[in-house]
Amino acid sequence: MPYVIGASCVDIMDRSCTEECPVDCIYEGQRKLYINPMECIDCGACEVACPEQAITVDHKADPAFREDNKRFFTDILPGRDSALGNPGGATPLGPVGVDTPMVSTL
Ligand code: SF4
Ligand code: SF4
Repeated sequence: MPYVIGASCVDIMDRSCTEECPVDCIYEGQRKLYINPMECIDCGACEVACPEQAITVDHKADPAFREDNKRFFTDILPGRDSALGNPGGATPLGPVGVDTPMVSTL
């Protein structure tokens, strides 16, 4: 089961989690980070690295954030012309620079 980043990450974004992820599947929006559920290998390394306790395994996560993390990759984000999909690595892609509509309104 993939891991999910919740509300505690918003406007924190210290990126401790990204340094621990062995598959580089934690992507950067504008105010929050998002885990790609198709690329996450469910290792749990990011959960213990997060100083805000923002990361939880998906069945324990807030359902709104569980769905929103998926939508970051499957929906066309504001200002973009296609969905991110599964880029295969957050570092080469760089910051996406935009959030989902739900996170933008928090
Ligand atoms: S470690 Fe936690 S608070 Fe920091 S960027 Fe990652 S999810 Fe957000
Ligand atoms: S659970 Fe592991 S693979 Fe998934 S996002 Fe966290 S560190 Fe990366």
